[in-house]
Amino acid sequence: MTRRIFKSICFAAIAVFLASLVFIMGVLYNYFSTVQRNQMKMQTELISQGVTHEGIDYFTGLKTYDYRVTWISPEGVVLFDSQSDAENMENHLERKEVKEALENGYGESSRYSVTLMERLLYSAKKLSDGTVIRLSGTQNSIWMLILGMEQPIILMFVIAAGISLFLAFRLSKKIVNPLNELNLDEPLSNKEYVELRPLLKRISLQQQQLKSQAAELRHKQEEFETATDNMNEGLILLNENGIILSMNRTASKLLRISKFCIGKDILMLNNALALQELLSKAKNGERSETTMKLNGLEYQLNASPVITDDEVSGIALLIFDVTEKEKAEQMRREFTANVSHELKTPLHSISGYAELLKNDMVKPEDISKFSGQIYSEAQRMIYLVDDIIKLSHLDEDAGDLKREDVDLYEIARETVRAFEPKAKAAKITFTMNGVSAPVRGVPQLLNSIVFNLCDNALKYNRENGSVSVDVQNTDSSVVLSVSDTGIGIPARHQERIFERFYRVDKSHSKEVGGTGLGLSIVKHAAKLHNASIELHSVVDGGTTVRIVFPK
Ligand code: ADP
Repeated sequence: MTRRIFKSICFAAIAVFLASLVFIMGVLYNYFSTVQRNQMKMQTELISQGVTHEGIDYFTGLKTYDYRVTWISPEGVVLFDSQSDAENMENHLERKEVKEALENGYGESSRYSVTLMERLLYSAKKLSDGTVIRLSGTQNSIWMLILGMEQPIILMFVIAAGISLFLAFRLSKKIVNPLNELNLDEPLSNKEYVELRPLLKRISLQQQQLKSQAAELRHKQEEFETATDNMNEGLILLNENGIILSMNRTASKLLRISKFCIGKDILMLNNALALQELLSKAKNGERSETTMKLNGLEYQLNASPVITDDEVSGIALLIFDVTEKEKAEQMRREFTANVSHELKTPLHSISGYAELLKNDMVKPEDISKFSGQIYSEAQRMIYLVDDIIKLSHLDEDAGDLKREDVDLYEIARETVRAFEPKAKAAKITFTMNGVSAPVRGVPQLLNSIVFNLCDNALKYNRENGSVSVDVQNTDSSVVLSVSDTGIGIPARHQERIFERFYRVDKSHSKEVGGTGLGLSIVKHAAKLHNASIELHSVVDGGTTVRIVFPK
């Protein structure tokens, strides 16, 4: 801007200077022309007087440098000419100045000579004898005048240009400096230029609008962050080129990346093929999902394109940790396969025995044995199906089970009592010890716990062995313990016996009517009561299982 003002001022100064020069030169030229004409008139007068007194002799020895003198007869014949031979000259009667002089006594004219490229001035005076004296001289052109004044003009130009430059420099600075020093943080505090007031008012208004818009945006951003940071899913917003614009807390936790990654290309952080394909689909405006393994965990990624004006302007990436879901899915698949397998074996036996009976291939004395086998296999299936149903109830509607205040001692005593006939038949002694122990829990599940532990203690016991059930009520917990004097569990199996369908000795378990699900039900039921399980077992020394219910 300073340059522009500087240039404008310089240009204006030079234009004024040139205009003044033209005007002055015009005036001067006019002045000098008038002076020259007057001089010619005077000279014509003087020469006329000389010729009147002396006749043609006046011209003898007359030196005329600036002018040409011509003496013309009343008929227009040239009698004398200071520069040409009078005899050879044409008649001058028709010349304007001569005509005027003959008529009025004095005449003037000027003509432009194209050949000489100069203007000639003529003045003519009629003498008393009727003859005419004419003087002609060259009138200086304006260019001659300018050339004649070359030096002062150049000097004036240099001085004027110098002054113009200096003033232009000072003025442009003086105009621009206050503009540079404007306080735009508080536009209305500037008093320098009244003309800028409307502009400053507008700036101030726009600043206020910007401030309130920024505050609103910040507020919305905070709201968005609070909402997204409390999401269980990871959320990453990308622009159309895959650059991370924002991410919530869960996303940075799941992907183990910090918020410093904002502004970076997501493919630089992870260039897995699945992610590349997902993003390229989203860039083409397609919603898609994929699963990915990251840091040993399984994630599901959903990418949705953000479409503005029919164009993809960004991508919203949702990330879920599906490790648990995948595990559960895997367990369910294994469970289903195991269930099918477990059911298939007794069904095959039943089908085989039934086929033999149907085809009368069994001796009459063996019929009862075969029917007994069918019965026991069917019984095993019933136990199995019962346990499966119990487990799936625990899996599906664990939250819906109704809790009550119950006495664990009473539950254990009832169960022990129910086992007594079976124990007697197996020649095993059952004892019940302990004190009343109120527990808040689900009665059926507590019952299942005691039942399965007692059942195992009986099934994996020896002849003349014993089972002792004990319920203790301490300040911090209620403890149920079931001890037997049975075969015990080898140390390497102890961790796994709570898994579904896991048995130390499969055939032995089947023999004694085991389903492989008893301890899984115990584990599940204990977990729902926040109870912990402790196992102490010695091969051939017996087993003690303690369930600790915290208060
Ligand atoms: P099962 O129906 O086969 O008894 P469980 O889940 O109840 O299934 O038990 C799993 C396995 O743990 C059993 O097959 C058995 O090998 C072992 N086990 C459980 N309880 C005892 C115990 N008191 N003594 C010895 N082994 C036991």
